Amino acid sequence: MLELSASQSIILIIDDNATTIRLLSNILKNQGKILFATDGESGIRLARERKPQLILLDVEMPSMDGFEVCRQLKAEFDTRDCAVIFITANTSVESEVACLDAGAVDFISKPLNPPVVTARVKTHLRLQHNAETLDRLAKRDGLTGLFNRRFFDQAIADEFSRMQRQALPLGIALIDIDSFKNYNDAYGHTAGDAVLKAVAETINAAAKRPGEIVARYGGEEFVAILPYLNSEEISPFGDLLCQKIRELKLPHDRSTCGDIVTISVGLASVIPSERVSVKYLIDLADKALYLAKENGRNRSVLSNV
Ligand code: GH3
Ligand code: MG
Ligand code: MG
Ligand code: MG
Repeated sequence: MLELSASQSIILIIDDNATTIRLLSNILKNQGKILFATDGESGIRLARERKPQLILLDVEMPSMDGFEVCRQLKAEFDTRDCAVIFITANTSVESEVACLDAGAVDFISKPLNPPVVTARVKTHLRLQHNAETLDRLAKRDGLTGLFNRRFFDQAIADEFSRMQRQALPLGIALIDIDSFKNYNDAYGHTAGDAVLKAVAETINAAAKRPGEIVARYGGEEFVAILPYLNSEEISPFGDLLCQKIRELKLPHDRSTCGDIVTISVGLASVIPSERVSVKYLIDLADKALYLAKENGRNRSVLSNV
C-alpha cells in the first residue's frame, strides 16, 4: 500500500502527436513522473501496468479515439480510478458534454495554455490524492495495510456471485497465528505488532494471482479469497503459507508448537450455488481451522465437506 505525495504522482499522456506530448511533458515535468503513449491501445496497457493518478487524453486520434479509450479505462477495475482529462481542439458545448459523459473529470482546450494546464493538473492531482487517502482509510487495516474486514465482507459477497455466475469454484483460507497471546506476553505488544505486519506481508505476497484478496479478518487472524481454486488445488496453497511463515524464522520461545512463529490454516472451497452461502463457506474454513489447531497447530487442514 502506498502513500503518494505530489512528487510521486504518475501522469500519463496519450496523444498521437509527438509535438503535443513534448509540450505537455515540458509543462508538467515538475508535477510528477510523466509517461506517454501515442495510441489508445498502448495507452490503456500502460495505464493498467502503472496505474497513473492522471491521464491526459487526446480526443482526436486515429484507430481508437479518446472517447473509446476513456470508456475502456472506466470499465476496468484496474484503471477506473485514474482521473482522465481530455485534450481537445473542439471547444463546443457538445464536445464538452461528450467528454464529461465519457467519464472524464475535466477537459483542456487546444491550443495549450501552460498556466491553465498546470493549474488544472495540480487541482486534479490534489483531488486524486485526497480520494486515495479516503479510499485507503475506508478499505485498509491501519496496522498491516491489508484490506480490512469491511472490505472483505463486501469482496467475498461479490466474488461469491461472480463465481456462481461462472459455475466455478471459490476457495477461502482462514489463517490464525499460533500461541499469539503467549507471544505478546513474552515479547510485548509492540513486538507482537511487528509479527502481525511480517505475517500479513508474507501472506499477501503469496496470494498474487488475479482476483486473490488477502484481508485482516480480526486480531491475529487473516483471510485469503481464492477464486478458481477447487478443493484439490487449494491444499498446496495452505501448505505454502505455513512454509513461508516458518521460513521467516521469527523466534517464539513460548509457542506451544515449536520455537518460532507459526500459523494454522483452515481451507475450504465450494462452487457457489443457490444451495450454499458465503456464511457456509466461511464456517467450513473455520471448522477446518479448528481442526488444524486441535491436531497440533503449524499446519493447514482442508474442510472435508
Ligand atoms: P491459538 O494458538 O489457539 O491461536 O492461541 P492464541 O494465543 O494465538 O489465541 P488467542 O485467541 O488466545 O489470543 C490471540 C491474541 O492475539 C490475543 C491478543 O492479545 C492478540 N492480538 C490481537 N490483535 C492484536 C494486535 O493488533 N496486536 C498485537 N500485538 N496482538 C494482538
Ligand atoms: Mg490527435
Ligand atoms: Mg485467533
Ligand atoms: Mg491464534
